[in-house]
Amino acid sequence: MGLFNAIYSGVRQLFIRRMTMNYPEQKLDMEGDGYKFDPKENIGIPGYKGRHLLVMDKCTGCQLCAIACDGIAIAIDMITEADTKVVVNKKSLFPQIDYSRCVFCGLCVDACPFDALVMTNHYELAGYDRKSLIFKPKQLAIPPKDVGQFVKFNIKDKEAYHE
Ligand code: SF4
Ligand code: SF4
Repeated sequence: MGLFNAIYSGVRQLFIRRMTMNYPEQKLDMEGDGYKFDPKENIGIPGYKGRHLLVMDKCTGCQLCAIACDGIAIAIDMITEADTKVVVNKKSLFPQIDYSRCVFCGLCVDACPFDALVMTNHYELAGYDRKSLIFKPKQLAIPPKDVGQFVKFNIKDKEAYHE
């Protein structure tokens, strides 16, 4: 009986579509561009909460993102980028994020009144030391590049699979 059950379980898998993938060659294709917050409507726009993207031209250096993070993870430090001139940011003060502390809650994005900080679908943030996980404003301003084959994940009533 045990042998029959084992064979049955094995054979049954042949007809079930795969839900595992060959990471890192294959990766999940996330829906949308990532989590955002609309300060005018005061609503969050659903999306994956991955690495941040800073729009330096819109950042006023108001520090509200850092203040929001202080109660969560103390992951944001405001630093001066003296060679970056932005009309709305007289002191050239921008956020840097320490990803060894960040818990990807998105509260800093919610706190930004100028739509200057959003989140992306990028989650590959491993590093060999903590220093490499500290992203300076100019690094945050570069959209992350994802390489690999992206596969769409399907969730149905009784199964989850990818093509
Ligand atoms: S997403 Fe990260 S940086 Fe932003 S408030 Fe949360 S912990 Fe802080
Ligand atoms: S990212 Fe937004 S909240 Fe943070 S300093 Fe810039 S403008 Fe202010």
